[in-house]
Amino acid sequence: KNMISNKVKSIQPSMTLAITAKANQLNRQGYDVVAFGVGEPDFDTPHSAKEAGIAAIQVGKSKYTPVPGILELRQAICEKLKKDNHLDYSPDQIITNSGAKHSLSTAFQAILDPGEEVILAAPYWVSYPEIIKIAGGKPVVIETKEANNFKITVDELKEVITDKTKAILLNSPSNPVGAIYSREELEGIAKVAVENSIYVVSDEIYEKLIYDDNHHVSIAEISSEMKELTIIINGMSKSHAMTGWRLGYTAANKEVIKAMGIIQGHAVSHPSSITQYAALGALQCEESVLQKMFDEYDIRRKYMISRLDEMKQLTYIYPQGAFYVFINVLGLFGKSYNGKLVHNSLELADALLEDEKVAVVPGIAFGLDTHIRLSYATSMEEIKKGLDRIENFIKNGV
Ligand code: PLP
Repeated sequence: KNMISNKVKSIQPSMTLAITAKANQLNRQGYDVVAFGVGEPDFDTPHSAKEAGIAAIQVGKSKYTPVPGILELRQAICEKLKKDNHLDYSPDQIITNSGAKHSLSTAFQAILDPGEEVILAAPYWVSYPEIIKIAGGKPVVIETKEANNFKITVDELKEVITDKTKAILLNSPSNPVGAIYSREELEGIAKVAVENSIYVVSDEIYEKLIYDDNHHVSIAEISSEMKELTIIINGMSKSHAMTGWRLGYTAANKEVIKAMGIIQGHAVSHPSSITQYAALGALQCEESVLQKMFDEYDIRRKYMISRLDEMKQLTYIYPQGAFYVFINVLGLFGKSYNGKLVHNSLELADALLEDEKVAVVPGIAFGLDTHIRLSYATSMEEIKKGLDRIENFIKNGV
């Protein structure tokens, strides 16, 4: 008898979590490991969120809430969508979930029938294909071009659409690339989506981390027809340094939100009541609190790219958003480092960890074996130390 489902056997465990575990193990053995792997803000949760969470505990807000979340929080999310994204949503078009990952998995379960296809770009965030598969769907991966900052073009999109296509999954700003889709690019994608009645699941979790003169545009802003087909995914993890609290949310048409509520009602009921109040406090925090974190990320980003500019064997995609730099390491392949011949991103990541105690994520985790991802959601001191070590590693290649 098959004691574990075939479904699970087809799912890859998260490679980023595996690398973190390996780095933690070396740390426990007493090594000083520089962690460029984690996609987690190193800042503390804003004071207003903590206070609201503590107050919720003290006044006994510890009972079940409505499945989509407390009305005040959904109203605050509607206000945020209006203020930041110029979008009108009502609270019955919002559902809060236990992290954006859970928003994505609930949304795909709500819209996908077995075998229906979801189009996404490679390189992709590690969990996307697996979340789609768990929901019974089929990921259809477009191998996007580096010259186009790994963004999906309209022509590439048209080539892979079939009568089974149910949704396009977009992520802007993107993980792992840090690329941003412009309004024009989104207009092109929206036209195809509307013409073919395809949903766009728009993961906007990094929307607050946009550098230089770039702007965030939600594809739902393009037209009312597109808004009807858009499922916006967002949450507090990255914008408000609240990864452990687990609060994500979804904005979509009422039917999608209702369907997600049916699934969530039988799965987790709702995100923790305490977390919901903390998220409400977070949404009310002073703009300066977020600005401070943003400014620090920007300083680190600029420092990191100035150092990478000096390492001539590497090229990178100029990061416009999020907190990652996606680096092309083809120039390092075929060389030996401390006697280890490196041919691919995983061997490179292993060698960097073993020889220099620097943890990075190999591109293969994102479906692209020629790159590695470095996160700058870590202190300047660590970034300096880590880049010194990478520089040293490269020098030793023969
Ligand atoms: N979407 C993207 C692109 C991410 O990078 C992440 C986290 O790494 C998430 C969603 C999930 O965020 P959460 O912690 O809210 O589940």
